[in-house]
Amino acid sequence: MNTLLKSAAVCAAFFAILCCSGHAGLTRSEKTLISSSDSLMHVLVVSDSSELAVLRARSLDFTDADLRSSEFASLVAKMKYTVQDPSQDGVGIAAPQVGLNRRVIIVCRLDLPGEPFIAYANPQIDTLWGDTLTGREGCLSIPGLRGNVPRSEFAVIRHKDPATLQVVRDTVSGYVARIFQHEIDHLEGILYTDRTSDLWEVEE
Ligand code: ZN
Repeated sequence: MNTLLKSAAVCAAFFAILCCSGHAGLTRSEKTLISSSDSLMHVLVVSDSSELAVLRARSLDFTDADLRSSEFASLVAKMKYTVQDPSQDGVGIAAPQVGLNRRVIIVCRLDLPGEPFIAYANPQIDTLWGDTLTGREGCLSIPGLRGNVPRSEFAVIRHKDPATLQVVRDTVSGYVARIFQHEIDHLEGILYTDRTSDLWEVEE
């Protein structure tokens, strides 16, 4: 009987863990990381083993409730500030690079008037097509390195509008399609250095 009770308790605990992972809302520690961070967030680098573990992990979608939360708005504002800071000066950033394994990226839309930095929540690549173009890339998480990386010329990106919670699709091309492919790779734990051996060091 005792053994049966123990088994039941273990099953209940396991079920509870499954239920929690199913909801996958922002955890308390993720909320604390967002609220306690300066506007200029710390950018994780591959040379630190604990930071590399975050950069190599797959990221989870935001729940609808999280997309409408003040934490999500704050995270987006801080990521936009960080990627545009002169110390970083990037054209894109993904949440794992600031310590969160959550699916949001910021992309500089060089193809739109004013070249705005726009946030994309729960982004996925729907379709890739066109020629495979090789182009130069760097990464804020891999300072001092550049590489020539093959990417598809065109991409359809599927993402969720945090205001309407509707799924939206954008078709992008050329360098902007390259930025999207680089940033969405981050959400899968993939770095551009995985996609090329044509790498060289630069002074930064
Ligand atoms: Zn990167």
